[in-house]
Amino acid sequence: MTTEPTTQQDSGAPISPDPAFAAQAVAQADLYERAAADRLGFWAEQAREHVTWDTDFTDVLDWSNPPFAKWFVGGRLNVAVNCVDRHVAAGNGDRVAIHFEGEPGDTRTVTYAELHEQVQRAANALTALGVQAGDRVAIYLPMLVESVVAMLACARLGAAHSVVFGGFSADALNSRINDAEAKLVITCDGSYRRGKPTTLKPAVDAALAKGAPSVTNVLVVQRNGEAVDWVEGRDVWWHEALEAAAPQHEAESFDAENPLFILYTSGTTGKPKGILHTSGGYLVQTAYTTKNVFDVEPERDVYWCTADIGWVTGHSYIVYGPLANGLTQVVYEGTPDTPDKDRWWSIVEKYRVSVLYTAPTAIRTCMKWGEEFPARHDLSSLRVLGSVGENINPEAWNWYRRVIGAGRTPIADTWWQTETGAQMIAPLPGVTALKAGSAQVPLPGIVAEVVDDAGEPVPHGQPGYLVLTEPWPAMLRGIWGDEQRFKDTYWARFPGRYFAGDGAKRDDDGDIWLLGRVDDVMNVSGHRLSTAEIESALVSHPDVAEAAVVGATDETTGQAVVAFVILRGGHEQGPGTVADLRNHVAGQIGPIAKPRSIMVVAELPKTRSGKIMRRLLRDVAEHRQPGDVTTLTDSSVMDAITAGMGAAL
Ligand code: ATP
Ligand code: MG
Repeated sequence: MTTEPTTQQDSGAPISPDPAFAAQAVAQADLYERAAADRLGFWAEQAREHVTWDTDFTDVLDWSNPPFAKWFVGGRLNVAVNCVDRHVAAGNGDRVAIHFEGEPGDTRTVTYAELHEQVQRAANALTALGVQAGDRVAIYLPMLVESVVAMLACARLGAAHSVVFGGFSADALNSRINDAEAKLVITCDGSYRRGKPTTLKPAVDAALAKGAPSVTNVLVVQRNGEAVDWVEGRDVWWHEALEAAAPQHEAESFDAENPLFILYTSGTTGKPKGILHTSGGYLVQTAYTTKNVFDVEPERDVYWCTADIGWVTGHSYIVYGPLANGLTQVVYEGTPDTPDKDRWWSIVEKYRVSVLYTAPTAIRTCMKWGEEFPARHDLSSLRVLGSVGENINPEAWNWYRRVIGAGRTPIADTWWQTETGAQMIAPLPGVTALKAGSAQVPLPGIVAEVVDDAGEPVPHGQPGYLVLTEPWPAMLRGIWGDEQRFKDTYWARFPGRYFAGDGAKRDDDGDIWLLGRVDDVMNVSGHRLSTAEIESALVSHPDVAEAAVVGATDETTGQAVVAFVILRGGHEQGPGTVADLRNHVAGQIGPIAKPRSIMVVAELPKTRSGKIMRRLLRDVAEHRQPGDVTTLTDSSVMDAITAGMGAAL
């Protein structure tokens, strides 16, 4: 891939770490040197520092049968014991594990000792329902304490969980249950969203009615008291099962490569893939990255990741990474604008949150709502901010740091995927001089390259493909039930190396900038243009809150740039808006990048994990009926865009 070199994103001087912060930072610069000198030795060190092994491993990595890796060979552990029991055993049972905040305002504080008892009871309850090591359990729950308990109970038993996002339809749930052949489904009556009770159990009933021969029981958490249909003999109340279960459970040790979970990717680019993760390597890398990238100390920090447990971020940075570190964290059930658009900031103030991890889509939404909402609250407890999921445009990065981080907090833009299991490219707070909009450097222990079509490293400044050249502990071990798709998708394009599917370039300092999916790269009159760069140019205009750019077939230029923008709160579209935005892009990147058309929209189509679905916008721009919309949060968004498109194009 050769894209037009641009300078827009490289501008802005790096922000050096604050000396006071650096002096007490968890991460130290020598991590890079140690990892570079002896990568496997470095991972062995991390494995012993962050994880308690019942049987020590004999080899760090077995890569004799690529792309099938075995990490920490011979090691045995129990993941749930690492996340819960060992903190209680170390005398920290009274420490708060979870500050739960329900959307209606109800709260619940769960200490590590209480979490320990809940997980043990749940493990016994699952055993009573026939769940054994090697089985799969589907979890279809919103953000509740029980969701975390359910995942840990599976881990404790050596059964793999498959969490299905609570917003998915019965069809999506049915296909995921059957793909994994789950024995048990754990769900709840319902939850709260935007001030109203929702229901989940009906979707499970419908999913099972479509045929799910592997499922023998449904375990139902009571959350909001909504009426549920009941299938005698199949359905069991969670609270009754846990009450009946013994409060003690003796945990077994499992092999480092015992499956921990299957999780389906978000489906931005096509049919979701059932990504398989195992135990030892996954826990090592999630624990190590949580500690170093977020600069956390259990005694000092209150951590909050706003993701849903239905996504990999919820797995790695709500459940496994933070709990392995014995952190205190916030779990919030609802939406950021209930009862008002300052809900998140009221939570930060209330619990004195010190580390906040969220997604660019949320930051851009807050920008659109305006600064008055965060301004209502005392956010001075925040020390470190994180971002994940998409490119964070420099404009959004600067807003996040200035408005939420008081111009003071480091921001870790973390690049990783469901497949990588844990963070891969990110600055280290206190060590790395930060650049707005760049994920910057592979973490110590990770090796990444930007290469051309032939697999050769591209010169700095030139765009190419992001590849991972060495295996890493939390790497996926396969696609569930589809060995060939695993090899074809990730390992065939550049043999021996992992192809991430994302475009990237290095700047003059060697820092990495993500450029969007390679499928989304446009070719305009022979010039390759990156969606991410044009979107960032649009978002840098003071009127624009969010932008999505796609390439549409064009008779003269091959492809033409078509942009969809959301204006910031208080900005109305005027007669000159579109022309002004086109000129702004031309000024920022060059005339070649000027969008052929720009449509001002109220919402953009997003996956349920908050990512922009460019393939649907491409359909609209090319006057096709939009394709599969089942992973969209709100399919009416597409109707509105399609209706408005005739006038705009
Ligand atoms: P599918 O693979 O089914 O299309 P998906 O790729 O959206 O779905 P995820 O694994 O949740 O599913 O997302 C990983 C992708 O998100 C990365 O490949 C990358 O494109 C994007 N991404 C994540 N973090 C960042 C980041 N910090 N900067 C830029 N892009 C990011
Ligand atoms: Mg992907």
